[in-house]
Amino acid sequence: MTINSEALQAVPDPSSQRISVLGATGSVGQNTLDLIGRNREKFDVVALTAQTNVDKLAELSINHNAELAVIGDDQAYSDLKSALAGTEVEVAAGREALVHAASLSADWTMAAIVGAAGLQPTLAAIRQGNTVALANKECLVCAGNLFMNEVSCASAKLLPVDSEHSAIFQSIHSSNAGEIDKITLTASGGPFLKWSSDQIAAAQPEDALNHPTWSMGAKISIDSATMMNKGLELIEAFHLFPVDSSQLEILVHPESIVHGLVSYRDGSVLAQLGTPDMRTPIAYSLAWPNRMETPTERLDLATIGKLTFISPDENKFPCLRIAREILEEGAFGGVALNAANEIAVEAFLDRTLSFTAIPKLIESVLDQMHADNPPSSLSTIEEVLVIDEESRKLARSLLNHYIS
Ligand code: NAD
Ligand code: MG
Repeated sequence: MTINSEALQAVPDPSSQRISVLGATGSVGQNTLDLIGRNREKFDVVALTAQTNVDKLAELSINHNAELAVIGDDQAYSDLKSALAGTEVEVAAGREALVHAASLSADWTMAAIVGAAGLQPTLAAIRQGNTVALANKECLVCAGNLFMNEVSCASAKLLPVDSEHSAIFQSIHSSNAGEIDKITLTASGGPFLKWSSDQIAAAQPEDALNHPTWSMGAKISIDSATMMNKGLELIEAFHLFPVDSSQLEILVHPESIVHGLVSYRDGSVLAQLGTPDMRTPIAYSLAWPNRMETPTERLDLATIGKLTFISPDENKFPCLRIAREILEEGAFGGVALNAANEIAVEAFLDRTLSFTAIPKLIESVLDQMHADNPPSSLSTIEEVLVIDEESRKLARSLLNHYIS
């Protein structure tokens, strides 16, 4: 079952929703809580989680009257306990507590942990059977089939938060896959769109973190600079929507105004537009199937005047090609791709790895993983986590080859 056919069956709008935010201190988490804070009467906060940022988690938990605050780093328990002393917020720490928080009954859960660290908590949220707003695209990259099966088994609802996928979700008005010609994800092109290959080779973390249109966490900002983000999004879209890989297209659109398009067999193309602010797609997932007010800047096309669209350049941005090859291959490739990318991004941010070595390291890991393992589909989360760990170890051991 694909989310569009499942999610398009409208449900009644409850007057007050119990919500949890996994990854509350991050960019998506804080944007979500900004919207919640503007509509306090409509939401009760069950659980907020973070990995290390105790002060921010405590502040958000107090501001939003959370029932429970969980810090993933168990060393930080006493700091969080002190920061929340005298409040009614329950405190817990450690990985298990974090996954448990995700499994607590909530009408709506925002899955906004970054990376494969979000797999188990997001799965726990899906298994409790209500609505999960999915920002953590890595879940579908690593284990798309498994996650979509779990959504179906739990009769949960999975609503896309990624702006392109939200746009496509909003533009799909039919669950009849035969009516769709293609789905287009737009890409800003990142900060290096107009840089020469020589300039890109010398790019530093501060250049790559300087995204032209979106304000986001560090990992996704680097993914946008390499355009791996769009590659991961292709895989995400493949699992969310009823099309095959040949029907998925990427279009570079530097203004980030048109977020996604659906082309139908009669020649019609439906798209969703808006200023680049994550609060719009987050609001859509919060209010779905209705809409809610947001404070985002309104789109003024006359002032913008002109929108541009360019085909992506896979030679300049090889991560796009690498991800597309994995999309078409299936099996464990998505897990290895994601794990190698996470290690490469971390090493680039540490200034250990050059920007252009990122795709090289990822390809080496993929080549080695394919040489060492027969193609097999991953049917349990435990199998996914084993491949994830193996790929990370391999990526770390190969790092030295790419350090100049
Ligand atoms: P971020 O780095 O700003 O925040 C990440 C959150 O995850 C933080 O709350 C952090 O405490 C938590 N976290 C980090 N490591 C963790 C771990 N090991 N265990 C548990 N929690 C951990 O990231 P972000 O930009 O908000 O992105 C979150 C997710 O949403 C990513 O998957 C990203 O690809 C996706 N996404 C983000 C945006 C955006 O605008 N930022 C847009 C589309 C999709
Ligand atoms: Mg996106």
